[in-house]
Amino acid sequence: MIEFWNDGNTPVHPVSAPDYMPGAQLRKTQLHRLQVVVKRAYENVRLFRERMDERKLKPDSLESLDDIAKLPFTVKTDLRDNYPFGLFASPLNEVVRVHASSGTTGKPIVVAYTEGDMAVWTSVMVRTFAACGVRRGDIVQNAYGYGLFTGGLGAHYGAEALGATVIPISGGNSERQIMVMKDFGSTTICSTPSYFLHLIEAAAERGIAMKDLPLKVGVFGAEPWTQAMRERIEATSGIKAYDIYGLSEIIGPGVASECGAQDGLHIFEDHFYPEIIDPETGEVMPEGEEGELVLTTLSKQAMPMIRYRTRDITHFITGPCACGRTIRRVRRIGARSDDMMIIRGVNVFPSQIEDALLRVEGTLPHYQIVLTRVKDLDQIEVQVEVTKEFFTDRVESMELLQEKLSQSIASVTGIRAKVSLVEPHTIQRSMGKAKRVIDNREMK
Ligand SMILES: [Zn+2]
Repeated sequence: MIEFWNDGNTPVHPVSAPDYMPGAQLRKTQLHRLQVVVKRAYENVRLFRERMDERKLKPDSLESLDDIAKLPFTVKTDLRDNYPFGLFASPLNEVVRVHASSGTTGKPIVVAYTEGDMAVWTSVMVRTFAACGVRRGDIVQNAYGYGLFTGGLGAHYGAEALGATVIPISGGNSERQIMVMKDFGSTTICSTPSYFLHLIEAAAERGIAMKDLPLKVGVFGAEPWTQAMRERIEATSGIKAYDIYGLSEIIGPGVASECGAQDGLHIFEDHFYPEIIDPETGEVMPEGEEGELVLTTLSKQAMPMIRYRTRDITHFITGPCACGRTIRRVRRIGARSDDMMIIRGVNVFPSQIEDALLRVEGTLPHYQIVLTRVKDLDQIEVQVEVTKEFFTDRVESMELLQEKLSQSIASVTGIRAKVSLVEPHTIQRSMGKAKRVIDNREMK
């Protein structure tokens, strides 16, 4: 990564140049890279070749970017079924890194990188940090987990290549996180938003207000969160909280990032070609309509992903961004189709519940959703922490708050939920991705 010694405080960082590529040139780059990567996958990955052959498609049949719609999708189970190395397009002696994501069931999925892939990954993470306003001279406390998870090392390499000072503290041990944040003067934190909320709380318990520390930027990802959650984080900590997006199957963090405008995430589409499809039919949606995000890696060598179905629901934001970047934006991802709960026949996302709760004053951004089934009828209970003042208040005002929250949930989701107000610190804090839903409905 080329980053010159005197690029420190430039408002538009030179490493971000590809973010501003004119549309016509970007499309040409994308088409060329697509043609090359499809050929590579066809020649080296048996599963992809078989699916192409079934459709009587040849890798050289792509004449325009729209032709991508002819190609077969790849889904998460394809990675599981070909565990561990079945989808590699490079021989092992060219693979310099593997990562794996812990599946909730069974075997993990394994992903691989060549030296070239590592360079791409680093470059998109550099662009991510640059878009979030991080610069040389910043002190980046990287509280994403290091290890098989892509978050830790992905952020690490990017921040280091940008010239920032990286503290590879990894996740957990809040006591030490706060000590380091204060003593080293961290200006940037990388973590899940829910873990940062936990740190704000843990600092307050030690008499430290985040607002008094040098911390100014949060680079948050690895779990869906809402605009309401962002407002709570920014108001209580005094930082700018940015949303970043990525997934191991594609590269890890670094697929997309918010910019200073905080109005949607720019996809680094010179490397990751985005489509929005109808999740039912698989058809490409008209520009701007909501659907499932599908990504194709345009430059991956070790493990190209062609039309990978992310299960994330979003839409393209049409029109130019205030920051001037030309690469397309998608709305922040609040919903994963995998997370969707079906309650009494109604589709409900945890992010809708979060939004409904945080609209009401007196709540804390810590909540849990418990699903049960009584006499074949789904029951939903939402446990939410409330501030000390509210909790020690009179019973009537607790009941009033409960009713307000229940109405707020009903107006967002259309279902009535039982709301339980709990004391601060009742709900378990997570060091990584927060577990929002406990589904006990299988147990009769
Ligand atoms: Zn922008």
